[in-house]
Amino acid sequence: MKNIKGILCDLDGVLYNDSILIDGVIDSINNLKNKGYKFLFVTNTSGVTSDELFDRLTNMGIPVQDNEILSPPLAAFNYVKNKGYKSAEVLGGNSIKKLFYDHIEENTTSPEVIVIGDIGKNWDYQLMNDLFNKILNGSHIVGLHKGKFWKASDGLRIDIGAFITGLEYATTKQSVCIGKPEKAFYEAAINKIGLPPENLLMIGDDIVGDIQGAKSANLTAVQVKTGKYRQELTENSPVPPDYLIQDFNELIQLLDH
Ligand SMILES: [Mg+2]
Repeated sequence: MKNIKGILCDLDGVLYNDSILIDGVIDSINNLKNKGYKFLFVTNTSGVTSDELFDRLTNMGIPVQDNEILSPPLAAFNYVKNKGYKSAEVLGGNSIKKLFYDHIEENTTSPEVIVIGDIGKNWDYQLMNDLFNKILNGSHIVGLHKGKFWKASDGLRIDIGAFITGLEYATTKQSVCIGKPEKAFYEAAINKIGLPPENLLMIGDDIVGDIQGAKSANLTAVQVKTGKYRQELTENSPVPPDYLIQDFNELIQLLDH
């Protein structure tokens, strides 16, 4: 892989599981950076802003610069602003709400757009039914991403893509989703790191968000067997990874070949 100059790197499931670092990844990132590889950390993490994510990664000891992160909240905000929506209801952490409500009127009765981010265990029937009725009455749906599930330290957890898809099904309306595997998100990543697709690889644990998404943007795709990797999902994927490795630490050997 002599032509690779930049690495788009997923976070959760690749560098850590539910904030517990995978052994060796800090040394591996430092080694790759010392060899001259450019990094951009691309994540669907949507409960916090990229500034907060930067602080979180730094506190974990991960060598990251503040311009090396791309996550959906800001991209979603730009989308909503460009669409000209005047009022919004935002499901997410306080910093995500502030990002939107500083510029767009908060309206939890009949918002023009409902922005759906990560709210952990706060999903329940009442919330789904409330959103269902607002969408039927005309609210648009913007999802920060459409992930199916993620891996916490105690096992797999259902992700917001399942709730968004449920709302689409019940209302017969379509959402616009922002994060991986959306091609627009990968194009934003390619622009931000400043290298052409043939010089980039994407490494991640999610066969859809990371692998299929990267391939749709013509990137080399490397899947790790950590995090949410499932052998049967990869074997049955219409778009397989270019390379399948045990964990992030094996990336150096792969790049040296
Ligand atoms: Mg991941």
